[in-house]
Amino acid sequence: MADAELDALPSLDAAFALTAEQLADMTPPEIDVFNARVDVETRRIEDQRERVWGRLQRALGEKKVRRGRTEQWPLRPDEAEEKARRAVREGTGSELYRADLSKALEALDALGAEMVRLNQGPRRVLDDEWDRRGGWSRFGVVPGGHIHKATGCFTLRITTRLNWRPDLSGRSDADAVAELGPYLCSFCYPDAPTEWQKNPEDVKQEEKRKEECGGSRMRVELNERMRRRASPSATCPVCGKEGVSVTSTGKLRVHKPKGADKSAKG
Ligand SMILES: [Zn+2]
Ligand SMILES: [Zn+2]
Repeated sequence: MADAELDALPSLDAAFALTAEQLADMTPPEIDVFNARVDVETRRIEDQRERVWGRLQRALGEKKVRRGRTEQWPLRPDEAEEKARRAVREGTGSELYRADLSKALEALDALGAEMVRLNQGPRRVLDDEWDRRGGWSRFGVVPGGHIHKATGCFTLRITTRLNWRPDLSGRSDADAVAELGPYLCSFCYPDAPTEWQKNPEDVKQEEKRKEECGGSRMRVELNERMRRRASPSATCPVCGKEGVSVTSTGKLRVHKPKGADKSAKG
């Protein structure tokens, strides 16, 4: 979520102050801005925990190993934590080594406590209201990609950014399509009409093709003189544009109709 959108969300203090009675009178968009805030906070804690786990592995003397295209720590987070706790308990290694481990373990404990506070506080109150109403529609967008149910989708990788749109919570699929485009994910919305399940990439290609001159990729006859040139060109018989380059297979390169470039620039 961009900073500007973050600023538009209620504060964490406000989320902690929420009561069931207040939530009962609120609309789904009003409720989901608080859910979005709690999500942001959850992610912040998880990111920080990730970093401390890395610090812990480094303190343990572990080195990242190459796995495929990524570098990863050799131990799972829980394994690293267990190893560090054992070292501290049993007094293994130097004092400095154990001090480093203790510091990282303390940070992990603090982050764990923050997560518990969040889950037992606002997260639970918000989830209870969701359950009480039997849920409502939610929409999230991958920038340049599909629209998903904001509660997560198995087609998304864990690292994919899903921009949650609380303002559309409780609205119909048709409203979401009108606002965000006909890009519903076919796994999240299996019953949606296929014209609402377009691939954003296909639509982009389609639009590009619409701008092309109909003479693009057309086979042209070159005269002897032109054929001998290193980079032959010809006049497009469709739009009349001169000097359109011709490929080695004798076809006109993809081009915009004559005059289209000028109007685009001007
Ligand atoms: Zn999906
Ligand atoms: Zn043309």
